[in-house]
Amino acid sequence: MDIWPGIALDIDDTLSQTTIFWIEKMIEAFGSDEGMTAQQIREKYFYVQNVPYPSWSWENVKDKIHYRLTDEAFQLELKTVVDSVSWIQELIQSWKKFSCYLSNRPISIYWSTKKRLALHWYPELPITLRPEDVDKEKWNDRKSDFLQKHTNISWIIDDNPDLIEALPIWYQWIVYLFETKKYSNPHWVSVVQCDDWKTLVQEMTSR
Ligand SMILES: [Mg+2]
Repeated sequence: MDIWPGIALDIDDTLSQTTIFWIEKMIEAFGSDEGMTAQQIREKYFYVQNVPYPSWSWENVKDKIHYRLTDEAFQLELKTVVDSVSWIQELIQSWKKFSCYLSNRPISIYWSTKKRLALHWYPELPITLRPEDVDKEKWNDRKSDFLQKHTNISWIIDDNPDLIEALPIWYQWIVYLFETKKYSNPHWVSVVQCDDWKTLVQEMTSR
């Protein structure tokens, strides 16, 4: 796969409101042990895998609901992160180049991911997804390896602070951390934290 110089884009919770949607589906199927709303669970636990409810355990849900991740209807129902498409267009007009989508979605949903991105007018770029056999603990190591191999990717837009932890201390490029939860960066990697796409575009175009 040819990767052009430029910016790598994560998909889930960077371009798609995946976690909140997934939490809503989990509440519908398994309830909320603490009686919290989807938004409250998102704020408290951040990712679905951090929610400690026994009925939400991987063993319990994998056969009952996980198939939906590969369901095309689920992909098409997902909302985009507000204004992300127009802000990406703004970056393109400011001569910023995009390299690829770098996501930890499983390869099995490659085609529905491609369809979804096209449907919402995201730029057409190579899509790199996660092979099914990579252990959960290694998901961000895979992204880190990819970024170290493709040194022409100079900026990464991602919402997951674990990616920063997975990068080596000599990593020379910048991670734009797109997230709602504050992250104190104890690491050597350059991180620009942005609450929303508007801030992110302002940060990027000022460089
Ligand atoms: Mg993400």
